[in-house]
Amino acid sequence: MSVLDPRHFKVLCIEDEPEILRDLVEELRDYGFEVGEAPNAEAALPLIETLAPHLIVCDMQMPGMNGLELLHKLRARRDDLAAVPFVFLTAFGDRDSVITGRRAGADDYLVKPVDYDLLIAAVESHLRNVAQRAEKVSAASLVVAEAEGLPGREDLQRRLETAAAVQSVAVVRIDDMAEVGRRFAGHDPRHAYRLAARLARMAGIDLYWLKLDCCVLLPGAGANLDRALARLADFALRDSDGGGQARTRVPLSIVTGRPDERGAMVLVDQLVESARLLQRDGGGRTLALDDPALSEMRLANSIRSELVNAINQGQMHVCFQPKVRASDGRPLSAEVLVRWDSPLLGQLSPGTFIPVVERAGLLSHVTDWVLRQTALCQVRLREAGLPARLAVNIGGSEFTSGLADRIAAICADVGADMRDIEVEITETSMLEDPDSASAIVEALHARGVSVALDDFGTGFSSLSHLQSCAVDMIKIDRSFVRQVAEEGTDQKIVLGIIRLAQMLGVETVAEGVELESQRRWLRENNCATLQGYLISRPLRFETYCDLLRDWPDA
Ligand code: C2E
Ligand code: MG
Ligand code: MG
Repeated sequence: MSVLDPRHFKVLCIEDEPEILRDLVEELRDYGFEVGEAPNAEAALPLIETLAPHLIVCDMQMPGMNGLELLHKLRARRDDLAAVPFVFLTAFGDRDSVITGRRAGADDYLVKPVDYDLLIAAVESHLRNVAQRAEKVSAASLVVAEAEGLPGREDLQRRLETAAAVQSVAVVRIDDMAEVGRRFAGHDPRHAYRLAARLARMAGIDLYWLKLDCCVLLPGAGANLDRALARLADFALRDSDGGGQARTRVPLSIVTGRPDERGAMVLVDQLVESARLLQRDGGGRTLALDDPALSEMRLANSIRSELVNAINQGQMHVCFQPKVRASDGRPLSAEVLVRWDSPLLGQLSPGTFIPVVERAGLLSHVTDWVLRQTALCQVRLREAGLPARLAVNIGGSEFTSGLADRIAAICADVGADMRDIEVEITETSMLEDPDSASAIVEALHARGVSVALDDFGTGFSSLSHLQSCAVDMIKIDRSFVRQVAEEGTDQKIVLGIIRLAQMLGVETVAEGVELESQRRWLRENNCATLQGYLISRPLRFETYCDLLRDWPDA
């Protein structure tokens, strides 16, 4: 039996009872595994993305999403994680869960209280299978490649070392190998190689295999790589099920680069990594290695994998920017703005990381954290006898029917008052589904939370939406405020917004007020509330408290 080095394997433990979770994690960590932990299935989902565990140990009965639902989600995926071994923990005598769990694709179960020797033995045995399977697949694919007469990594290395300067290199990944296999060859790995051979021959290029779904292309004698790649990107396969007539495009992720002083194999590795990013981004495109879109994908990838650290290790904090009454300058509330100082990625502005986190489906973790900080700070402000109203930004994907209950639960937990919470939601996300938007606003109103429409003027609200959604405030976007003191289109737009708001009984807030001339104009034209660097930059909590304490007449 092969010896397993636990240091090479990552295990994720999911368990809602804190003592059991602590013991599980300690036992597995002591044994040498790298261990991730989550107190519930919801928290486990982002961890599965970032940790990419080799095995999951999961409690079946948990509040919220239970172990079974999590297992279903996992098995429905289309990537490697779909097959990760899943060991579930169940209460003694819960025979039905064991049967249901097994049917749903769980690999093993252990009865609580957990016998840790049994747990380690089970984990080891499943991981050994994983390791053997991986070895078999890569050995098999090499054998097949050789049988098909295709050159591999060593041939590539030799060619790059010996040949006269190679002008350009491309790495091609087949975006959905499983789909290609299903449609054209019924899971036969040889198909990938035959496909590649056809692609190469057709395009007049030299091809080297690195992995089942990934190869390197160099221009063959007299061939132009760019032209060949353009043809490749349009390549269509004849569908073996479709009576030989139907053709389906094979989506490919292609990244190209030119060797420089870094060495050709270093370049190849960078191309492979970039093609993988491109593939994960949706694929079906050809990009040059220095394309800004790839740098963005690299940043997004790092943000995704660093996010869990950001929240767990206190790398995030919130700042507070006062909103003041235009007529007399009194502080009314403050907008809570999140900040992330990452030791790895540097200071990230929310404008950079929030959209990435939202696209990755992980925004709820940030929102929950910000909401909790907001509620905690509100309590401290009240205790200090300071104005305690605070406004939080809610991303479009978080503006859902459960929002009011979610805020209520957090406020109840820390003793904050929901009537002193404002929610800022952008005009564009409000417009996605105006009907449900108005229901969400109603639910928030019922709890005493007020709602502001952020960045107003940048979307395309119609008057009827504004009326049906019944928001309390409109925040006039900074881009219109910039030139508001000068006669021109922006001034007319702002005047129009203020009049419209007055007719609808909605308050107006001007964002990004930086100049005295802007403040004067806005006050004279009945804009109710002002926010911007002229009044104050976003401040750390303590500094914000000092500012309020020293405020004239506050
Ligand atoms: P926003 O909600 O429109 O927030 C106002 C932004 O304008 C903030 O940028 C603020 O620092 C900046 N700002 C305020 N006054 C001035 C000014 O006088 N001049 C200029 N040039 N800028 C000013 P920040 O903090 O970088 O936030 C950017 C955006 O990120 C926010 O726009 C908001 O949409 C989003 N955001 C921030 N915190 C959160 C959060 O906790 N959750 C979510 N979902 N989004 C957030
Ligand atoms: Mg805002
Ligand atoms: Mg705004």
